[in-house]
Amino acid sequence: HTKRAGRNGYNFFEPSMNANAHHQLQWLQDLRVALERKQFRLVYQPKFSLPDGPVLGAEALLRWQHPERGLVGPDEFIGLAERSGLIIPIGAWVLDEACRQMHEWLTLGYADWKIAVNLSAVQFADPHLLEVVRGALERHQLPPQSLTLEVTESTAMHDTEASLLTLQKIADLGVEISIDDFGTGYSSLLYLKRLPANELKIDRGFVRDLSDGTEDAAIVSAIVALGRTLNLRIVAEGVETERQQQFLASVGCDALQGYLRGRPMAPDLFLQTMREQHKSAA
Ligand code: C2E
Ligand code: MG
Ligand code: MG
Ligand code: MG
Repeated sequence: HTKRAGRNGYNFFEPSMNANAHHQLQWLQDLRVALERKQFRLVYQPKFSLPDGPVLGAEALLRWQHPERGLVGPDEFIGLAERSGLIIPIGAWVLDEACRQMHEWLTLGYADWKIAVNLSAVQFADPHLLEVVRGALERHQLPPQSLTLEVTESTAMHDTEASLLTLQKIADLGVEISIDDFGTGYSSLLYLKRLPANELKIDRGFVRDLSDGTEDAAIVSAIVALGRTLNLRIVAEGVETERQQQFLASVGCDALQGYLRGRPMAPDLFLQTMREQHKSAA
């Protein structure tokens, strides 16, 4: 971990610095003030249980409302936030805001929803992670089982023994663990078996082409079978078509997320959309 921490930020000042690095410095300056100027937002994408079950909750996804550049997605700044160390305070804000929002939904009667928050590898390696998570839960009086932390497979695989320890501490809090972008890392079955996880999210890359007989279709049904064996909930991400949804339901996948059923939405729209779906389902 020390190696990673030591690298933070210094990338920008290496001799290989080029025009792109100047560009990055500009972004870094903007990123430094973004938190205090309250430029971050969370949008929420629903997770639905299959075959046509109810909403299980939502994944919180970070957006940056930049004063000149407009709405910026996480792929454009998370890397920089990680390299500069800013992901630590930004990630703490995300956790706090997501817990606040979930508590509000809980008081509105959506007590069985879970809120999922993405953790970066840098947060995951931070020795203060547990305090930050516990603090957010306590501040908003959120029961730990209402929170899920999503960690990518590659993060969970990095330094496996240390990861297992951290995951176990999270699980001991009563918070659920989801392994994100599953299939893109290199988990061994032995390691997977030891993981104190509740959920695997099949990476979008495997969901794109689920026509009969494709390799991806075979991989996805194998992951679903694995989930059944290891007692893990399987969620498919990036579901955009009816056909994909039908395939996933037919192989017994537990849940899905994707543009077909719900895009990431601002909290008001999220609640309104969920209420309308509930009404039309009743
Ligand atoms: P992820 O956690 O795997 O999230 C799924 C991404 O796929 C989201 O992109 C979501 O908007 C997008 N998506 C959902 N359904 C569909 C679909 O049907 N089709 C397509 N093409 N895309 C879909 P987003 O919001 O841009 O986030 C990208 C990544 O950034 C996330 O991947 C996650 O790794 C990271 N991220 C987002 N929010 C946070 C955060 O608060 N903290 C950290 N550390 N990382 C975050
Ligand atoms: Mg995620
Ligand atoms: Mg994912
Ligand atoms: Mg992804």
